[in-house]
Amino acid sequence: MCSQVLLVNRHRACQHNVPLWHNGETFDCNRPDCALSSAHQHPPTYPCRCNRAWSDYIRVSSIIQEQCDPCKEAATAALNNHVNRGRR
Ligand SMILES: [Zn+2]
Ligand SMILES: [Zn+2]
Ligand SMILES: [Zn+2]
Repeated sequence: MCSQVLLVNRHRACQHNVPLWHNGETFDCNRPDCALSSAHQHPPTYPCRCNRAWSDYIRVSSIIQEQCDPCKEAATAALNNHVNRGRR
């Protein structure tokens, strides 16, 4: 299966990769049974059952020491819950 480079932010605090965008760079798998490959055995218009899905090739664009946004929100929500419960 061919892959597209997907740039991610790597958050070290929670070990999550947050996807940014595909940078347009691709890797050809050179398989005749992959419709995305230049080695594809059928003409482009032929309704074959070959693979047409891209896979993601994860490339870390930048490393961030903090948690990702969902983790931060979850942490804040848990903290608020805790505070609310503490007030009751
Ligand atoms: Zn392929
Ligand atoms: Zn095909
Ligand atoms: Zn996270």
